Amino acid sequence: MSKTNLEIIKKIPSVDLILQDSYVKKQEEKDGREKTVQNIREVLVDFRKKILNGDITDEKMISISSIVEQLKEIERKMSNRKLRQTINGTGIVVHTNLGRSPISKKILDDSLKTIENYCNLEFNIETGKRGSRHDHLRDLLVQITGAEDAIVVNNNAAAVLLILSTFSQDKEVIVSRGELVEVGGSFRIPSVMEQSGAKLVEIGATNKTHIHDYENAITPQTSLLMKIHTSNYKILGFTKSVSGFELKDIGERYDIPVVEDLGSGVLIDLRKFGLSYEPTVQDAVKQGIDIISFSGDKLLGGPQAGIIVGKKKYIDMMKKNQLLRALRVDKVIISLLYNTLRTYLNEDNAVAEIPILKMLSEKPETIKERAQGLKNLLDIPEDIADISIEECLSQVGGGSLPNEFMESFALTIKPKSTSVNKLESKLRLGDYNIITRINEDKIFIDLRTIFEKDIEKIASELKKYLN
Ligand SMILES: *Cc1c(COP(=O)(O)O)cnc(C)c1O
Repeated sequence: MSKTNLEIIKKIPSVDLILQDSYVKKQEEKDGREKTVQNIREVLVDFRKKILNGDITDEKMISISSIVEQLKEIERKMSNRKLRQTINGTGIVVHTNLGRSPISKKILDDSLKTIENYCNLEFNIETGKRGSRHDHLRDLLVQITGAEDAIVVNNNAAAVLLILSTFSQDKEVIVSRGELVEVGGSFRIPSVMEQSGAKLVEIGATNKTHIHDYENAITPQTSLLMKIHTSNYKILGFTKSVSGFELKDIGERYDIPVVEDLGSGVLIDLRKFGLSYEPTVQDAVKQGIDIISFSGDKLLGGPQAGIIVGKKKYIDMMKKNQLLRALRVDKVIISLLYNTLRTYLNEDNAVAEIPILKMLSEKPETIKERAQGLKNLLDIPEDIADISIEECLSQVGGGSLPNEFMESFALTIKPKSTSVNKLESKLRLGDYNIITRINEDKIFIDLRTIFEKDIEKIASELKKYLN
């Protein structure tokens, strides 16, 4: 038996011979000889193992064409790992796994000139002297939020780290037990506190925290009173939390700054879109909160960033923290955020130009029309699949408004010629990486998160895999 195994191994084509194959030649032109030979060797090692294990017993299974098939598989796997566009059919608007907020072409175009050329990132054009990278966004943020001053860092986690490291090293920070959030598994308030050197003082019970709980916990070591927006969960029932307004009152009486991590950092009152109230940055400023932090790529709809707004004396202290250098953002982010924020000077403009705001504000009827448009492009016989338009529920996502669903419409596909799981994976692995949901043994493509420009692509993929 082992002899026949060895005989088969001897029949494995040589690397040189495999390199003569037309597909392999093309790969060599694209990837270079070294990489191509490495892939071939990987396949051959695998084949040898299979022969020795007795999984391959026929020398036909080690032909050049079956080796090429394996090489194609490697290529396919590698290319699926590349960063690329996906089509979001999940109806989750701020989808963290799918890059949170898409940026509009207009905002990208507006940013292009600063990014592709030299720019005045740290140069004051009027004086001809050195300027500060923080000034560009500062003026806009002050204008939009009403705060005294602002600074931008890498993300909201970095913002919280900067705040705590500036004000609370080896000092106490008072936080309500009901607000000790974990976001996406990798950001936990208690862990960030530990990292910053701050001492967490937990107060209240999970469901109730009173004003006197804060007051009783204040010591000479208290550096901050911190409020965290529980963006991704809600405590319901017998509950009590202290409002930003009340907290600010305590802060003033004891002369301790009050900080709020707002999470999403929405700049428009979402009730206008029929959603629940999500605390806006402007409202937190109006309540007098001294330092407010939020994300740039959640409900704000910009690039990844952490924005801190608040009293000038506190922002100035953070600007002097050496950590800021490690957390600062580059001209690409500054420019994209700048052009995103500019649209907020006129709210209608923001809703028209920021993709996630457009999606959140879209009426179900309009979504239904888009679903109909997609359905019209398909001409799939009934024996291949049942295709219809159904009501469904979209979600805000990004850990915001967890209990909130928006009425929407989906194209649903119940395939008859293939299984629903196979179709889902074909759409996902295909040319356009369409991400869908499976529900009641049907594929759901929620049209709320689908751009008009992608409708034809979805239609052509569906036709390809359903026939
Ligand atoms: C999302 C979130 C964060 C983390 O923000 P990133 O910008 O993802 O770093 C922190 N705090 C709260 C309350 C959040 O919702």
